[in-house]
Amino acid sequence: MKIIMLGAPGAGKGTQAKMISDKYGIPHISTGDIFRANIKNGTELGKKAKTYMDQGLLVPDELVVDLVVDRVAQDDCEKGYVLDGFPRTIPQAEALDAALAKLGSKVDYAVNVEVPDENIITRMSGRRACVSCGATYHIVHIPTKVEGICDRCGAKLILRDDDKPETVKKRLAVYHEQTQPLIDYYTKQNVLVEVDGTKDMEEVFAAICNILGE
Ligand code: ADP
Ligand code: ADP
Ligand code: ZN
Repeated sequence: MKIIMLGAPGAGKGTQAKMISDKYGIPHISTGDIFRANIKNGTELGKKAKTYMDQGLLVPDELVVDLVVDRVAQDDCEKGYVLDGFPRTIPQAEALDAALAKLGSKVDYAVNVEVPDENIITRMSGRRACVSCGATYHIVHIPTKVEGICDRCGAKLILRDDDKPETVKKRLAVYHEQTQPLIDYYTKQNVLVEVDGTKDMEEVFAAICNILGE
């Protein structure tokens, strides 16, 4: 099952992608996590990506497309995967489709997690992220057992640099301009499905499982 998560920054794509990955036994591929790991490790890619990320802008397509195309061609992706944060532009979606066509494959579902802009800023200011394993929490809605420590792996949680309200506003504008057109793109391919992301995490997941099946 090849799944794409769509939705505004903070809609809950990563949270749901992790749950899908666990339940269906397919890899969770998050381009944001890949960039953050590169930044943490001080790689050239990380240095380049950070200048865009800190401004709330998208990293240029040429820095992200090859990375994902190589990743989905790996053996553990044969049964499927859940892509989180990619594609984010029409050229990225087209590049993915072309690469999948070469592998004799295609996207099965594009899951749009709908959350209005009004809800996003508060969600983001409470977000805490684990850079070691990619888990995400919320100080009010999805707290950890021990404050500031990842339940999954025990690492220290961070407040992302790009989750400041000014940067979140910029990211929302970028989302509407560059990423939202993907909703039409995948509607035309008959693979778009939508869930109400304002419900609690378990309810959203139940709605997704209902669509994906057992
Ligand atoms: P969010 O969880 O808020 O949706 P991500 O963790 O997916 O954010 O991405 C964080 C940042 O990384 C983005 O704001 C963007 O700068 C960069 N990024 C991640 N994925 C992509 C992509 N597919 N194309 C361009 N930039 C990306
Ligand atoms: P995205 O990957 O779309 O940027 P995340 O999965 O990181 O979004 O979620 C953004 C923030 O909202 C995190 O702090 C997360 O813990 C929290 N969150 C995720 N799903 C829900 C939900 N259904 N209700 C309330 N908060 C949520
Ligand atoms: Zn962790």
